[in-house]
Amino acid sequence: MRKSVNYNRGNFSVKRTVLIVDDEEINLEIMSTILMDDFNILRASDGQEALDLLLKAEHKIDLVLLDVFMPMDGRELLKVRQNNPELKRIPFIVCTSDKNIEEECFHLGVNDFIKKPYENPDIIVARIKRMIELYEDRSILKEVETERLTGLYTVEFFKKYAKQFDVAYPDIPKDMISISINRFRLINELYGRAFGDQILLAFAEQLSVCINNCNGLLGKYGGSTFLIYCEHHDNYDILPLKLNEAIQKVSSEVNITFRVGVYQNVDPQIDKEIVIGRAKTTADSLTNDYVENIGFYNEEKQAKTLHSEELINAFPQALEEGQFKLFFQPKYNIQGDKPTFSSAEVLIRWISPKFGFVNPGEFISLFEENGLIGELDEYILKKAAKYMREWKDKYGLDVPLSVNLSRVDIYRPNLVEEIIGFVDENNIPRENYYIEITESAFVEDAQVVIPVIEKIRNNGFKVEIDDFGSGYSSFGALADLPFDILKIDMQFIKTMDKNPKVKHILKMIINLSKMLDAITIAEGVETKEQCDFLKKNGCDIVQGYYLSRPLPLNDFEALIKEELKGDEH
Ligand code: C2E
Ligand code: CA
Ligand code: CA
Repeated sequence: MRKSVNYNRGNFSVKRTVLIVDDEEINLEIMSTILMDDFNILRASDGQEALDLLLKAEHKIDLVLLDVFMPMDGRELLKVRQNNPELKRIPFIVCTSDKNIEEECFHLGVNDFIKKPYENPDIIVARIKRMIELYEDRSILKEVETERLTGLYTVEFFKKYAKQFDVAYPDIPKDMISISINRFRLINELYGRAFGDQILLAFAEQLSVCINNCNGLLGKYGGSTFLIYCEHHDNYDILPLKLNEAIQKVSSEVNITFRVGVYQNVDPQIDKEIVIGRAKTTADSLTNDYVENIGFYNEEKQAKTLHSEELINAFPQALEEGQFKLFFQPKYNIQGDKPTFSSAEVLIRWISPKFGFVNPGEFISLFEENGLIGELDEYILKKAAKYMREWKDKYGLDVPLSVNLSRVDIYRPNLVEEIIGFVDENNIPRENYYIEITESAFVEDAQVVIPVIEKIRNNGFKVEIDDFGSGYSSFGALADLPFDILKIDMQFIKTMDKNPKVKHILKMIINLSKMLDAITIAEGVETKEQCDFLKKNGCDIVQGYYLSRPLPLNDFEALIKEELKGDEH
């Protein structure tokens, strides 16, 4: 962000440089004498010589005093100046005795006139000083207001004018658009700055044309981002096409791509900085997408992305501080007279001082995506084994637990050794430690998963296929999968009451499981009717709100103590 420029108005302690252009030696002499105490003087005797001096970077010329009738006419020089932004930054004063020429020079952008023959020298000096001062003021303002290369508004002024635009057109809906050139720094490095500048200028020009066709503003943000604030459009399909045209004009060989983020129907109450940020992050989210070059801001999506980032950032501390709590959902054997406790599934909960109670639905897949799940599951695997030891010590109970493994965990080279380590160091029976892994992981990554699962089973642990029937494998393929327990996907239980066909499928799955000598579990059982149906049809074990919700440690311990008492009777 630019700060205001510290400028000492009217401070002439540093001598400014004036270029005097006249073909008459005597005039040069007189004017030099008038100005020499107050200014550095450069002289030229025709337009061409003046132009050469002006274009040489080593002379910083602050003002030009110009005669009109010379070998290269003063008016020619003024025409050149009109098309050169650098020369336009320098004020030109024409010295003439010809009244008629004045109007013509005015149209050529001259800033002031001094009459020949020269009269009061003090007035001339004062006038020149005033003009330089005025111009310096203006160019400083300009430098902040617009960007040097493209002449587009800098972001500070863009924001300011965007607000004014809101005031001027309160009733029309507006969009904020951010356009960035991809890997622009690399383009500069590979093809040179001059080429980079050409691309920027081509974008600026093309976007100016677009803006001229509608109501709006154009600005520049940083090195390679353009901003548009304009009246709302439903469709922006034309914009990428136009930008590609601009690129083609500069080069058809260099592969230049861009990303566009559109935030439609901007709420004028929201600070422009935030609005620009939203358009920009929408564009930035496309960086790795080579197919789409235009994206549209979506409030929900953005909020979700931000929340996900926060969760990821909070993870290490949360793990360290023990914010992840193991909950336990009991599973009941239903084949006897009354349901009896058989084991429990470990379900993780994140109790965060910042976010409150976070459900695994919010973070498991997120952590799977960025690899944090490994650390988390390791923690859970270890903790589960510890609790089993504690319960054995405190209550004399062997409580079988099942722990969920993510498909990502399977790729950890020492996974099985870790599990063996956690269980054996607590000296608990391996056959009481179950691993749940989803059917989809089994099937999609079969080549990797199956050998690992076989190794887990060969080491004495039990394996459950979770969410079975959620549409990944054929019943036929089940025979080839190594597992001990088949856990029917909750969806069947949810829909069984409404759809009689589902009841049919449930019966089939239970029978299939029996044929394969597996234990059958139904989860998500919420009603007595569901439970009765499952019992009648031979399902061994049931898990769900009907019998118990997932419980925090204390409640679960109370429950197993009850179980212990029950066993004593
Ligand atoms: P899942 O393994 O299929 O777990 C069963 C989910 O069903 C749990 O949701 C449980 O709270 C919920 N549930 C249990 N009974 C009922 C019921 O009667 N009705 C309904 N509607 N829901 C019921 P939760 O705890 O939110 O976990 C969601 C998923 O997150 C789990 O699905 C599992 O895939 C994953 N997950 C949970 N804990 C862990 C963990 O420690 N490690 C890994 N890798 N994944 C975990
Ligand atoms: Ca599970
Ligand atoms: Ca499940």
